[in-house]
Amino acid sequence: MIIVMSPSATEQNIDTVVKKVKEYGCDVNISRGVERTIIGAIGDERTIDQELIDALQGVEQSMHVVKPYKIVAREWHKENTVVDIKGVPLGGNTVQIIAGPCSVETQQQMDDSAKYVKEAGCRLMRGGAFKPRTSPYSFQGKGVEGLEIFRKAADAQGLPIVTELMDVRMLDTFMEWDVDVIQIGTRNMQNFDLLKEVGRIKKPVILKRGMSATISEWLMAAEYIAAAGNHNIIFCERGIRTFETYYRNVLDVTAIPVLKKETHLPVIVDPSHAGGKAWMVPALSRAAIAAGADGLLVEMHPTPCEAWCDADQALTPDELKKLMVELGGIAKIIGRDI
Ligand code: PEP
Ligand code: MN
Repeated sequence: MIIVMSPSATEQNIDTVVKKVKEYGCDVNISRGVERTIIGAIGDERTIDQELIDALQGVEQSMHVVKPYKIVAREWHKENTVVDIKGVPLGGNTVQIIAGPCSVETQQQMDDSAKYVKEAGCRLMRGGAFKPRTSPYSFQGKGVEGLEIFRKAADAQGLPIVTELMDVRMLDTFMEWDVDVIQIGTRNMQNFDLLKEVGRIKKPVILKRGMSATISEWLMAAEYIAAAGNHNIIFCERGIRTFETYYRNVLDVTAIPVLKKETHLPVIVDPSHAGGKAWMVPALSRAAIAAGADGLLVEMHPTPCEAWCDADQALTPDELKKLMVELGGIAKIIGRDI
């Protein structure tokens, strides 16, 4: 950390800062200029509370020189991490498309969905049993029964399952149903207790970006999971809130190369919740893969107009099939496969 003292700072002010930095276990390097004194904190500066330093008398400004996140940072781990999902690699050369309905509805709907997901060539399936709905009067998901339905349908096709965990009290149930990938939704990205709990297990976690979260906040949220011991984390960009109202969210394509630079962990994109309309999904999907995403999380329903949730944005089985072919072409151009 670099601490810049104001021109009016006294020797006593400088001594106080030095003492404080040493309390954090760091050493100091004092550089005295004509106008200002600059104090460099040497050691593990992550432990230093910047707010406390800034509040000391005579401090003009301070800045961290190392990233506040460590385990998830590429700075400390150069190679791409490949997350293994029951033998399906995510984060390697193969782009993975996770498809399925927004929510689990019936056994028939899930059996059909699983068949279509498999037929399209996808290796992983999505479906929500616990739904975070804006209105308490909307369908809230089938709950535990939904996990049972999903497991049965996906097992019949040999597809690992991805489903959202909203409440830490359901974690044991998720383990009992052997959920393969736990999704943390946009509304829970900074539910730190939830993050710590999924950090205690080894199951892969998809961490969706909070709808107004900065890249740094998102990385720090992932660091919570990693710091608790679980390094099987997959970032998912799902669109952010802006002034635009034409579409549901703005897909932040820029976040893809930025995240790939900042972290060694896989980065996927959810074009469905970004656009909010099925017709936008192919274009956003192509953009995401072209920009370097390691995979997609796409909503598909056997009969979209009958979907209990997010009917407008679900692809039909045929549209998913067509999309897979298109994405195969893009993957090939950039030296990947699908
Ligand atoms: C979902 O994927 O079903 C979902 C609710 O997404 P998000 O958390 O991105 O809104
Ligand atoms: Mn949805």
